[in-house]
Amino acid sequence: MGKQIKSRITRKTLIYKTGVEYGDYTMNHVLGCSHGCMYPCYAFLQKKRFGEVKTYEEWCEPALVDNTLELLEAEIPKYAGKIKMLHLCFTTDPFMYDYPEIQSMSVEAVRKANAAGIKCSVLTKGILPFELSLLSHDNYYGITLVSLSEEFRQQYEPGAAPINDRLAALRALHDAGCKTWVSIEPYPTPNIIKQNLSDILSAVSFVDRIIFGRMNYNKTITAYKERKAFFNQCAEDVIDFCNKNRISFHIKEGTIS
Ligand code: SF4
Repeated sequence: MGKQIKSRITRKTLIYKTGVEYGDYTMNHVLGCSHGCMYPCYAFLQKKRFGEVKTYEEWCEPALVDNTLELLEAEIPKYAGKIKMLHLCFTTDPFMYDYPEIQSMSVEAVRKANAAGIKCSVLTKGILPFELSLLSHDNYYGITLVSLSEEFRQQYEPGAAPINDRLAALRALHDAGCKTWVSIEPYPTPNIIKQNLSDILSAVSFVDRIIFGRMNYNKTITAYKERKAFFNQCAEDVIDFCNKNRISFHIKEGTIS
């Protein structure tokens, strides 16, 4: 059954150019995100700063852009040929956990982009639906995974999908012949959680691409004196692992110092 969307908005435009490494263009067809990450979520801080949402509670109540498919129909012909990879999403989550309407809108958006020859990359802390395997196999389907601990997930990603379900959905798409990737970012220091990065890497050893990045500095991270050496070592481990397993990788700027 899933959760119902309580609020809807319309926008004038949807697709825009961006500098993220996952795609040269992006679209955000939801305002807010029920995953409510406590890292904190930069999309939330940004939307709060610009007055688009007032509180964390409001951020966690997603507002769907009702005219998403109409906007895509109008914009896709303008961008076809220009976009190398359309990324869903930069400031929200396209497969928000337990929100079937958002999930089906996202599948439809990918379908429309693919029909115009545009490849998509997708990143979620929800569950990637298996029907994505029926769309273009040039797409990249990804999950964010910074820990295998459900306790950590409940504390830092309270509304997101359980880790094992997230992983199983990614694995199923890989097994169906899709390209998959994982974003291990923002990776926490041992004073936040003691864990072995190698366990996370082993859990995603089937993916085609890994992105690794440190948690941005806040009071807790800076209290961890060995942070620079720690992140340097983590980055080295990711690079070694990817080279050994023939996985392409990207280490986010500022992770290695
Ligand atoms: S999943 Fe992404 S957009 Fe949603 S709250 Fe977490 S960091 Fe923010």
